Amino acid sequence: MNSDLKNIYSSLGISDRVFEFGEKTLDALKERFEKIDEVAEINQLKVLAALQKNQVSEACLHGTSGYGYNDMGREKLEAVYADIFHTEDALVRPQITCGTHALALALMSNLRPGDELLSPVGKPYDTLEEVIGIRPSAGSLAEYGVSYKQVDLLPDGGFDWEGIKAAVGPKTKLVTIQRSKGYQTRHTLSVSEIGELISFIKNIKSDVICMVDNCYGEFVETIEPSNVGADMCVGSLIKNPGGGLAPIGGYIAGRKSCVENAAYRLTSPGLGKEVGASLGILQSFYQGLFLSPTVTASALKSAIFGANIYEKLGFSVLPNSTEDRHDIIQAITFGRADAVEAFCRGIQAAAPIDSHVTPIPWDMPGYDAPVIMAAGAFVSGSSIELSADGPIKPPYAVYFQGGLTWPHGKFGILKSLQSLVDNGIVLW
Ligand SMILES: *Cc1c(COP(=O)(O)O)cnc(C)c1O
Repeated sequence: MNSDLKNIYSSLGISDRVFEFGEKTLDALKERFEKIDEVAEINQLKVLAALQKNQVSEACLHGTSGYGYNDMGREKLEAVYADIFHTEDALVRPQITCGTHALALALMSNLRPGDELLSPVGKPYDTLEEVIGIRPSAGSLAEYGVSYKQVDLLPDGGFDWEGIKAAVGPKTKLVTIQRSKGYQTRHTLSVSEIGELISFIKNIKSDVICMVDNCYGEFVETIEPSNVGADMCVGSLIKNPGGGLAPIGGYIAGRKSCVENAAYRLTSPGLGKEVGASLGILQSFYQGLFLSPTVTASALKSAIFGANIYEKLGFSVLPNSTEDRHDIIQAITFGRADAVEAFCRGIQAAAPIDSHVTPIPWDMPGYDAPVIMAAGAFVSGSSIELSADGPIKPPYAVYFQGGLTWPHGKFGILKSLQSLVDNGIVLW
């Protein structure tokens, strides 16, 4: 068995030394992987129960065209999301083009001129800087007279309770809480930490809308931020909840009034959720959601495997090899641009699609430094599929995530290590 495995890895360019280092690393991870499987089991049943409760039928898998009035499949899918997220309502649409769009929609539809937006967890995800107007941009919230305040996390990663208390004022209308670290080297917030933060803020001002950027966090734990007080959870369907099958889309699950505002802005005042043809997309949304708990578990195992491999080799990894996980992202700080690029070439070489191409850094819209991306995915840009990216700027960290199956995630990590060895960065 072990020699069959070694042989096929060898035929795919993995040296015996890299393979054996991987196997040895895995030996210590059995118990952690069992815990991940337990979380996946609970979430699988949670999703199944929501599908059954809403009596999803075959007819729901077909779409509508034109205006999309009375789209039963779309309406039931939104009810399924609301059940899973434990919210009053949800908006789950292919017309939401990506995660940034979903977040912009949630913000712009629930904020009015004169309101203030607060981020109590430091700088938000890069692409939101232009949405908010931190970096001046046409159409930003700032242009519409919505002001912004930010309270950074403390140096130890904790919340700055005093700073947050001082920042919540009469104009504070909405608080945005990013669960995942994104392109930063802070820690990812657990659902229970988010719950604590929301209680604290609601104690100061009870009518503040608390929105969580839930990207990469779905199904990593057995509860979601909306189980602990979040008024809106927002995310992308080409990340966890699309299960690798959704080819586009975003969701907002939350309080009825918040979701309604978002629907009025997505389509039009007066029309809201009533329009928006689902075309032929619903089967992929339903089936992807159904697969998402185990797909997310595969991605988590891949991240933990990578953390253990690279920590052993002396690189700084976040989360570290033993920490609990609250999202699927793994950061590895290499401290040098050539290592970031070699790592990404290894991930690309492991891909099912475009494995023969070489990723190079480029100036992506929305980002302030060149970014290198390894992405050989069935869905373009999908980061629930095995993928890696890193801004080419200090501290030269690479962020990798995804893996629709655990064996593929494992192969990707071994390929990345092989690339570092072959390029003389890991000196073996
Ligand atoms: C991916 C991501 C976004 C933006 O999503 P896109 O689909 O890339 O626009 C926002 N916030 C976080 C934390 C993310 O990981």
